[in-house]
Amino acid sequence: MVGIKTVGVIGAGQMGSGIAHVCALGGYDVMLHDVSADRIATGLSLIEKNMARQVSRGIIEPAAMEAGMARIKPAGELQVIGTTDLAIEAATEDEEVKKSIFKALTPYLSDTTILASNTSSISITRLASVSDRPERFIGLHFMNPVPLMKLVEIIRGIATDAVTYEAAVNFARSLGKTTANAEDFPAFIVNRILVPMINEAIYTLYEGVGTVDAIDTALKLGANHPMGPLELGDFIGLDTVLSIMNVLHEGLADSKYRPCPLLVKYVEAGWLGRKTGRGFYDYRGDMPVPTR
Ligand code: NAD
Repeated sequence: MVGIKTVGVIGAGQMGSGIAHVCALGGYDVMLHDVSADRIATGLSLIEKNMARQVSRGIIEPAAMEAGMARIKPAGELQVIGTTDLAIEAATEDEEVKKSIFKALTPYLSDTTILASNTSSISITRLASVSDRPERFIGLHFMNPVPLMKLVEIIRGIATDAVTYEAAVNFARSLGKTTANAEDFPAFIVNRILVPMINEAIYTLYEGVGTVDAIDTALKLGANHPMGPLELGDFIGLDTVLSIMNVLHEGLADSKYRPCPLLVKYVEAGWLGRKTGRGFYDYRGDMPVPTR
């Protein structure tokens, strides 16, 4: 049995801050790292805002929020993360970015640290291969928003050992999550199914089959989805959606996974969805307004 007490989170964006949030409320000491002090501060204020919302809804006690916030420490230097029992990488969905993080972290790791990636789509085996411990490397794929979503997809690389797998499952359960195992193939289970649907919705828009409003209304009321696919793409981040489509397209070499040119155009414009204020909807006013 591996004892996890401290968790390092690399990347303080929407997922990294959510992971730090649930770990801190789960009683773990958390070190939060990003490329700059500003990004870490933004992540911390997002966590504070989200915990305050949980307090106002009676989901957590004010004392739990106070204790949780006190457990999260900013880590300006990546090397500090090497001292933690479990280091979870939640940086931008880009294989080179993730590999460079694991390469840079490796010299500072304590012998027992378990490495995990929150990647949505990239091969765990390939990421593990740049570290010194592929047997203690695993995919821990949290869902967005982390405090609300029950699932953690667990992905073993080819070398991941049984002790690491058990530690990962127990860790996810200790956060109140349910796990589902996926084999290490492009985009695993959730995004292998979900992201091509979003891409297809973008093709539907691109080909003029429906407007943004018609497509999202159709799926919400016609298929009982809580969010329309374009709204969901904006929520995930269109850069992440495009990266996942590229991983599927390259990894499975099947033209059915080709990213829609309109998705590419939005990403090239920097219209990445909610996180940049504009995507298939414009979020800068009081109400989201379709951008086409
Ligand atoms: P995001 O854009 O909100 O945050 C990414 C963060 O990573 C940014 O703060 C960025 O500064 C940081 N970063 C980039 N390079 C870094 C480096 N070298 N060192 C440290 N930090 C670095 O993205 P996100 O939505 O939080 O996604 C993060 C990861 O989680 C991706 O792998 C993504 O696929 C995965 N994921 C996303 C979702 C989703 O719905 N958005 C769901 C599950 C998993």
